[in-house]
Amino acid sequence: MASIFSRIVAGEIPSWKVAEDGRFYAFLDINPLAEGHTLVIPKKEVDYIFDLDSETYSGLWEFAARVAKAIEAAIPCKRVGVAVLGMEVPHTHIHLVPLQTEGDLDFRKEKKQLTPERFAAIAASIASEFNKQ
Ligand code: 5GP
Repeated sequence: MASIFSRIVAGEIPSWKVAEDGRFYAFLDINPLAEGHTLVIPKKEVDYIFDLDSETYSGLWEFAARVAKAIEAAIPCKRVGVAVLGMEVPHTHIHLVPLQTEGDLDFRKEKKQLTPERFAAIAASIASEFNKQ
């Protein structure tokens, strides 16, 4: 069965997309640690990041770096933090989280509650910065 993220890529489940190319897709995390918390995935469905073929693995990190630059330009933050967990969804994803303090990358903390309008505005501003690259 397709992962929830493959269904997002296929458009079967909605997402707040921030960037896409032929191989990779980036969208806002539905339960964000901070405004602008983004997930970057390969369209190819592989559970564990270290099981990716080397071309997809390096391409994923290159794409994530471009998305991180767009987040930095769109969201006031000191820098963008990176995490790879995969405890919940068995489809490789990189978390990109705008940071003010190191505590902003604590996955045990309460997640932000954002309105659909706010998600949409954040996604649009990151996408706009990405498209300027
Ligand atoms: P992990 O697998 O890295 O432990 O956590 C999965 C992440 O995916 C969580 O941060 C969760 O909020 C996010 N997530 C799970 N399901 C969905 C979904 O349907 N849409 C979006 N945008 N994010 C999701």
